[in-house]
Amino acid sequence: MSATAAGFRSGYVAIVGRPNVGKSTLLNRLVGTKISIVSPRPQTTRHRVRGILTTEHAQLVFVDTPGFQTLHGGALNRALNRSVIQTLEDVDVTLMVVEALRFNAGDRQVVGLLKRDRPAILAINKVDLVKDKGLLLPFIQQAADTYPFAEIVPVSAERGVGLEDLVATIGRYLPEGPPLYDPEEMTDASERFLAAELLREKLFRLLGEELPYATTVVVEEFKDEEALKRIHAVIYVEKDSQKAIVIGRKGEKLKEIASQARLDMERLFGTKVFLDVWVKVRRGWSDDERMLKSLGFES
Ligand code: GDP
Ligand code: MG
Repeated sequence: MSATAAGFRSGYVAIVGRPNVGKSTLLNRLVGTKISIVSPRPQTTRHRVRGILTTEHAQLVFVDTPGFQTLHGGALNRALNRSVIQTLEDVDVTLMVVEALRFNAGDRQVVGLLKRDRPAILAINKVDLVKDKGLLLPFIQQAADTYPFAEIVPVSAERGVGLEDLVATIGRYLPEGPPLYDPEEMTDASERFLAAELLREKLFRLLGEELPYATTVVVEEFKDEEALKRIHAVIYVEKDSQKAIVIGRKGEKLKEIASQARLDMERLFGTKVFLDVWVKVRRGWSDDERMLKSLGFES
């Protein structure tokens, strides 16, 4: 394997940004496109890993910033807590995400968290929404005046624009060293995470536009048995009416969602999968709680 070749870089990356700038979309896109998911060697990390991206040149280990991920709207102040600060002290690179042409008070508070003694890279997301691209340059300049970002990279997480550049840029700021996680091997936590993501993807594909945003997927059980993996997942929705839509007439929608997800899982894991999916009503589940839970963490 060439991964340990000279010049390979690896390290921890924290993604920060005020709510709604596209952090989750970006993370899912980054770890979703290259599924080089790997085996945490628990003794090597103090972090909750949310996703790992291994390329030919680098391994980017995205970590959770506790207290930061779950905040919404006015709770921003609560993010200014010790654990976030601790995490930002521990990571090699901080990736801050903002929305193109917007830099508000929330963003400035996030800037206040950045550690000046290590690289912070700014991703300007949602550039697809900018009609007049000429406005981007002054915005980049404005951002550069706000904080000494090591790099500023325009991207569209949703459209997949600029992501290779972003990954390569982050990689250059990581310390030289072998991968922190075995790029060949899959872990229970990673497979669990991927299973939830594959199921979630089917919800997006097979349901209307709006509904998937009201749903969260939690893998309740993930068992390796001799000839198969046994996976029990729950799709949480917010209302009974949504539950009816996900299940569909005579349960056909749910059957289709589950069977397509199962086929993808079998392809990805290279084993037979027994997938059992339930739909339950539960209010107020955030995306981040879902992420943590699907990684096997209690949030
Ligand atoms: P988070 O709160 O920072 O994790 O943000 P999310 O990832 O949940 O995204 C917030 C919203 O922005 C969602 O509706 C996304 O679909 C949308 N979004 C994320 N990235 C992009 C992008 O590149 N372009 C556009 N147009 N929308 C995006
Ligand atoms: Mg999010």
